Amino acid sequence: MSSSSPAASSMTNNLPDPYIVGSEFPNLETARKHLKKVTIQRGLSYKRAQHDYRRYIVRCRNPACPFRLRFTIKRGSGIAKTTVFHPHNCPPETHRDWKAMASVEYLSEAHRNTIEDDPSTKASKIIALEKARGNHISYKQGWRALKHIQEIVSGANGGDGDDKGSSESATISSEKNASSKQENEQKPAKRGRGRPRKSHVQNG
Ligand SMILES: [Zn+2]
Repeated sequence: MSSSSPAASSMTNNLPDPYIVGSEFPNLETARKHLKKVTIQRGLSYKRAQHDYRRYIVRCRNPACPFRLRFTIKRGSGIAKTTVFHPHNCPPETHRDWKAMASVEYLSEAHRNTIEDDPSTKASKIIALEKARGNHISYKQGWRALKHIQEIVSGANGGDGDDKGSSESATISSEKNASSKQENEQKPAKRGRGRPRKSHVQNG
């Protein structure tokens, strides 16, 4: 039997449950991404509590809740392993309006299939789908996610030259033009990419 792994989109599907002590991930980046994904799928949330070269710890956003999850990073191999887990005992409201649920990263992954199935999908549909599961995102957030997915999908289909031409001529906003290409590939560690710009808003 040859184990043929399916498409890249299901790459993270074989990863273990980060909420179980003993689960191992090839590196911290994979562990963090999977933790975020699973957390959103389960309607939970967290905030980062500590991060250094040998551990990554998250806690509840409700300070009274004992939730705690720790990845320990093995020296040398870099493998990240869940070594501590205490479950939540906070009310579900704690997890409402978690910022990560409006992130391009999450939304892109959650809606990629929808857009692959129907490339004419609008941002408003993403917003409606999220709203249906209790996640209220802004139009801008939905729109950014849509654009991001379209870039991924067109890249995956080999529309290389096409993509370059359109993204330069369309120039929907200079902000996106400047930042999208690089940040899609290497995520900045500290500076949040999705931070909305407030400076333009002026009433006069
Ligand atoms: Zn909690």
